Amino acid sequence: MSKPRKAFRLELTLCYRCASDFRCDNRILKRINRRNNQKSRCDICQVRYGFDYLVIKKEARQ
Ligand SMILES: [Zn+2]
Repeated sequence: MSKPRKAFRLELTLCYRCASDFRCDNRILKRINRRNNQKSRCDICQVRYGFDYLVIKKEARQ
């Protein structure tokens, strides 16, 4: 018996470029609206600035 696993969730700061790389069939990106809509350094490339996202990874069912 296999237990249903929780969807993978992760909070990341992503610039527009990395956000588009992250977006695929198995992942959902949701903008997190912070009180002050300040941009912060991207967690992936650490070069550009972007917004905070919640990354939800969907399980591929077979
Ligand atoms: Zn980036």
